[in-house]
Amino acid sequence: MEFTTVGVVGAGVMGVGVAQNLAQRGHQVVLVDISDEVLDNARRELRNSLRAYALFNKGSGVDPAAVFEKIEFTTDYELLAKADFVVENVTEDWGIKQQVYERIDRIVRPDVVFAVNTSAISITRVGSVTTRPDRVIGMHFMNPVPMKPMVEVIRGHHTTPETIDTARRFLAGMGKECIVVEDVPGFVSNRVLMLTINEAAFLVQDGVAPAADVDRIFQTCFDHKMGPLETADLIGLDTILKSVEVLYESFNDSKYRPAPLLKKMVAAGLLGRKSGEGFHKYH
Ligand code: NAD
Repeated sequence: MEFTTVGVVGAGVMGVGVAQNLAQRGHQVVLVDISDEVLDNARRELRNSLRAYALFNKGSGVDPAAVFEKIEFTTDYELLAKADFVVENVTEDWGIKQQVYERIDRIVRPDVVFAVNTSAISITRVGSVTTRPDRVIGMHFMNPVPMKPMVEVIRGHHTTPETIDTARRFLAGMGKECIVVEDVPGFVSNRVLMLTINEAAFLVQDGVAPAADVDRIFQTCFDHKMGPLETADLIGLDTILKSVEVLYESFNDSKYRPAPLLKKMVAAGLLGRKSGEGFHKYH
């Protein structure tokens, strides 16, 4: 196998999904996060996710015990020295991502590619804090990762064609295809989606319609599987807010100003599915 051991940094919503997908496909995974408490939560989430996967993919034959056996849950960054590929999924915050990349750049072999899983942060900027900007590439996975066959791949300014080929092979191994786009804040998907979600939050804030009706309009009129606010709850409202803020700072355009309601909900701990309540309730 070309990528025997994969380092997955960040064990939140996306990191757990990426680790599960990789382990199901036979890779060894080193899953790194900052505390044992977060890792315990990641184990719980993985258990739930495997149950959901088995439910939606009857006869897939995925053995939860075998998946768990392939994943090393750890707070020890040094274990990333054995990685043949790294997917980073830490909090959508430039300060945090910068520290993580400076750290992993010192530990991980120089020939190894770093895939940045981000909603809006510039891949070129991430590359600039490493000694391998040619081997840094954006991989905007969709949530839930094991169920979504397409990945938006982002070419940073220094990303080479060889790195894009490596990324394609890596994703093919995960059972996924990719669409390669250029590096602009929000890329294609989130430049549109984040603006839509933010505008939907303004509609609720302004009392134009409750969240359930906003979502129903998109589901019934446009045949979307989920409305924008349900999608926001799935992604996590903290991640949405950070992404809208990145767009606002990057373009200096007032159309990306975050809805005050969104800020208030994040401050109140209403983060969507992961906290049990967002625009909708999940108890
Ligand atoms: P999350 O908040 O669920 O998880 C982030 C994890 O990073 C947490 O477990 C946190 O403890 C960990 N972390 C923070 N600092 C760390 C450090 N120094 N070292 C190791 N781990 C650290 O967030 P998420 O939804 O999983 O998002 C992760 C990334 O993926 C973000 O950049 C986000 O924009 C992007 N993304 C999210 C979605 C989505 O639907 N949630 C979709 C595509 C991309």
